[in-house]
Amino acid sequence: SKKYQRKKEKTDKVIILGTFVAFILVLGLLFYSTELYTNHDTVAAVNEDPKPVSFWVATDLHYLDKGLHDDGQAFQTYVSGGDGKLLPYIDEITEAFVSDIKQKKPNFIILSGDITNNGERSSHEELVKKLHRIEKSGTSVYVIPGNHDLFNPWARAFKDDKQIVIDGITDKEFTSMYGPYGYDEALSRDKESLSYAVRAASGLWLLMIDSSQYKNNQKFGFPQTDGRVTPSTLKWIDECVESATKEHASIIAVLHHNLLDHTTMSRAGFKLNNSQETMKNFRKNGINLALSGHIHMQDIRKDPDESDKSADSTLSPVYDIATSAFAVNPHQFGAMTFDPATRIVNYKTEPINVEGWAKANLITDPNLTNFKAYAEKTFGERSYNKAYSSLKGSKFTEAQKKLMAEAMSALNVRYFAGTAGSRASDLMNTPGYKLWSEVTDGFISGYMQTMTAPKQPDNINLQIVLTKR
Ligand code: FE
Ligand code: MN
Repeated sequence: SKKYQRKKEKTDKVIILGTFVAFILVLGLLFYSTELYTNHDTVAAVNEDPKPVSFWVATDLHYLDKGLHDDGQAFQTYVSGGDGKLLPYIDEITEAFVSDIKQKKPNFIILSGDITNNGERSSHEELVKKLHRIEKSGTSVYVIPGNHDLFNPWARAFKDDKQIVIDGITDKEFTSMYGPYGYDEALSRDKESLSYAVRAASGLWLLMIDSSQYKNNQKFGFPQTDGRVTPSTLKWIDECVESATKEHASIIAVLHHNLLDHTTMSRAGFKLNNSQETMKNFRKNGINLALSGHIHMQDIRKDPDESDKSADSTLSPVYDIATSAFAVNPHQFGAMTFDPATRIVNYKTEPINVEGWAKANLITDPNLTNFKAYAEKTFGERSYNKAYSSLKGSKFTEAQKKLMAEAMSALNVRYFAGTAGSRASDLMNTPGYKLWSEVTDGFISGYMQTMTAPKQPDNINLQIVLTKR
């Protein structure tokens, strides 16, 4: 019928119209996606001239959950018998650091191991909460574990006069807890360690190398101190470098253990067990900057060392910056910049602004409102006592011993900050210092010489150009 015919025509029109609309939509989508590609190209073109980035490196936070101690006898004994970490205030120092980050907004921060005191599960949990707040404020976080963070049989809580054995965490748990702080963002992960590579900024890759050996900690009953980079991890580094080179990205290596010796006092366990092999790999791969920690003092070294006459001066220089421990006076970190256009990297130590944080939060504890003086005094007293007791039974008078202990203490404060050596000529003219030259044996006299030995490069400032790829 006609009615049917009209209806059919109408339906045909709808179909034709529908096809037309669909066609336009597809065309639009095509245009849109072309537009996306165009935009993508534009972004890529802009990325060829990207802005310099700022980032911070902190190490050896040795964060301890506040809930794990009551400030009682057991905790105080533990702290005073330790290596100078300011554990009673570690939560406050970390909060001040979070506040510094929120104010100065570095693009990303690197935490290069020993992020907890002794790998306590709740310390990891509380630290993760703080890292979450940091990332929420717009700064990315990249972490690797140190020798204290995993399978640690020394994990303890402190109650009254008792130490209580508590839970640590495993390597698997570490990668899931710290997923948002490196592991989930990894471009590549090493199969046999917790090493990973990330594109931290345009034109900049970080090789976050896990140099710690924690698999036998439970068996040993203590956390193994020394570190190494295994042959399979070295191979993985080769692969990462190849990928980074394809996109002409610069590379910074981050490890917990030191690539180079940062002290002339021979002390095992700081430098990588296979530092020479690792150095060979880095040099072959054009990695000329490593960031490390572990030794807890501030020191920058270079290989080949210009003051070492036997060194092969034709080799391309590789730097290892050991940043001093976050948990130890002067509670500083490395403030860095990278300019992708010039590949220039700058490094400069910067103190955590605990005083400013305390004032802003109306905290009245004088140790926090005058933090710099308090932390330095607390650290200095330890060195004073050590030096003084080493002089027991010596030929010196009581007054002389005191002067000598004072000189040692003042020098050690600067040594850990990276400002001894050429920056300590004022201290080397004191009567206390001069008396030490009459001591020829014992640890402290050798240590005094190490501290004041002139060296290059400077320990708290560095500018280098990353290798071109
Ligand atoms: Fe440490
Ligand atoms: Mn360590």
